[in-house]
Amino acid sequence: MSEILVLVEQVDGEVKKVTLELLTLARRLGTPAAVWAGPGYTPEAKAKLAEYGAETIYVAGSEEITGYVVAPKAEMLAQLVGEKSPAAVLVAATAEGKEVAGRLAVKTDSGVITDAVGLGDGFVAEQSIFGGGVNVQAKVSRGIPIVAVRPNSTAPEAAAGAGAEEEVSVSLSDAAKSARVVERVKQEKGARPELTEAAIVVSGGRGVGSAENFSVIEGLADALGAAVGASRAATDAGWYPHQFQVGQTGKTVSPQLYIAAGISGAIQHRAGMQTAKTIVAINKDPEAPIFELADYGVVGDLHQVVPQLTEEVDKRK
Ligand code: FAD
Repeated sequence: MSEILVLVEQVDGEVKKVTLELLTLARRLGTPAAVWAGPGYTPEAKAKLAEYGAETIYVAGSEEITGYVVAPKAEMLAQLVGEKSPAAVLVAATAEGKEVAGRLAVKTDSGVITDAVGLGDGFVAEQSIFGGGVNVQAKVSRGIPIVAVRPNSTAPEAAAGAGAEEEVSVSLSDAAKSARVVERVKQEKGARPELTEAAIVVSGGRGVGSAENFSVIEGLADALGAAVGASRAATDAGWYPHQFQVGQTGKTVSPQLYIAAGISGAIQHRAGMQTAKTIVAINKDPEAPIFELADYGVVGDLHQVVPQLTEEVDKRK
């Protein structure tokens, strides 16, 4: 079976869950091969990638790969595609992943599918388009399929692969070195899961009312082991940091459960969360558009409903 290259997403050498999901998808369609970009490759990372089915791990460990912005990863992948002729390339549909996918598609004269929420036989992808308003079946008809898959689209399944390592040396063009990374600021890794990878997300909107009141949202999130999100109205008001904004101009999330409290359900917010498996809306306006989308709706004041919900969840632990 042909190889399917999976670009590894990692933070400080720790393989992110989305990579395990991509390996799981790759195994269903061919032979998964992980591609490690940049320094930080460890025996633990190798073990993790092999545990989820990587038969080969291509390690492009040069500092240069991550020393410049995005372009080196696309160039390294293009080189690997030229050498290995894989059946497909899978990346995570993160901001960087999508840029890598686009650049790689140009370099390899291939088609690209972004925001895939499923991938089946013949690399037919289920793709979320128009800001998440419509799902279509899409297939690449030119070159090799390059597919950017949203985190949480597939449950990762362990299945041992050989994990055979192969070093990749890359000679980067000057063009790939045109934007250099001058500083990395480490984001404090709180106790909560990362927003785009969380299985449960609890988001608050303008209805929360103030920065202090976000403790109500955080309380429920912590009871559920969830990430906290926010609407743009809440982030623009300075009630919650912008990096937690969900929506068209924020993060795209695809959790198992999304709880929207005090959020009206504007199209730009929906764009970032409507592929969630189950949506619960808490809003005091029964006419709020979020209820059209919600699987479960509670009409009520979130300041009463959310603390009660938190208490109930805590009782059942
Ligand atoms: P509102 O629309 O004001 O809704 C607040 C809701 O809270 C209401 O439904 C109200 O009934 C309810 N409420 C009030 N008090 C309570 C209470 N005590 N208990 C329960 N419910 C209560 N928005 C995003 O979220 N993400 C984006 O990425 C984004 N990108 C955008 C990009 C562009 C180009 C544009 C033009 C807009 C974008 N927006 C985005 C903004 C979007 O259009 C909405 O303005 C925004 O989502 C509204 O946020 P909200 O639902 O919190 O506020």
